[in-house]
Amino acid sequence: MRRKIAAGNWKMNGLREALREVEGLHSANPNPDCEVIICPPATLIRSMVKTCDTMNINVGGQDCHENSSGAHTGDISAEMLADTGATHAILGHSERRDAYGESSTLVRAKTRAAWNAGLVAIVCVGETLEEREAANTLDIVGGQLAGSIPDAATAENLIVAYEPVWAIGTGKTPTLNDIGEVHDFIRMRLERRFGEGVGRSVRILYGGSMKPENAADIAAVSNVDGGLVGGASLKAPDFSRIVAAL
Ligand code: PEP
Repeated sequence: MRRKIAAGNWKMNGLREALREVEGLHSANPNPDCEVIICPPATLIRSMVKTCDTMNINVGGQDCHENSSGAHTGDISAEMLADTGATHAILGHSERRDAYGESSTLVRAKTRAAWNAGLVAIVCVGETLEEREAANTLDIVGGQLAGSIPDAATAENLIVAYEPVWAIGTGKTPTLNDIGEVHDFIRMRLERRFGEGVGRSVRILYGGSMKPENAADIAAVSNVDGGLVGGASLKAPDFSRIVAAL
């Protein structure tokens, strides 16, 4: 039985007053059967950890450097994230693959760094619209999976997020059949590479315009173990409804 996850990716949004949204989430009765992770901007991680301390909500970063320290101006290491009390790190988000040219090889190194620091890696994969229209979705997702995940994956240190790039922040979502096809494929690849025990237990999240209105339908698709939620995670009432739906 894989426990569902609702992970909120705040991206570059949120000043200190946004911490009140999380307090609102608590009073809005989130689902105790669903694991909740919030990934705020780096400036809010420590405060968020303190705010979430008694709320059964985990906190994650949105990226980390592949090295543990050194001359990397502006970067944050996995050890630094862990030092704040964060437990997770989103890695290989399409916005980073696109805007910073992050390759799967680099994402793999970052994932290894996250694991060395004791963090759970949320590794993102997903195709662009052109790739989908050219019927290359499974090739792209398969290649990103193989390239981005190191060999030492376990059900405890890895979460995979399938995020079709064209669905992120656009209000568009794939059909439930299309989501199921990719999630089944990811499951098959995880089982093939890491063995049935690990492959069956790693949680696979869907991300891309998940909203209160579509979360329950998406979460009912085979091998969907929850959601990585961008825009709709910024407002407590919306995120609470997604948590409840999951
Ligand atoms: C994301 O950025 O990971 C995401 C899924 O964004 P949105 O929910 O806004 O599409």
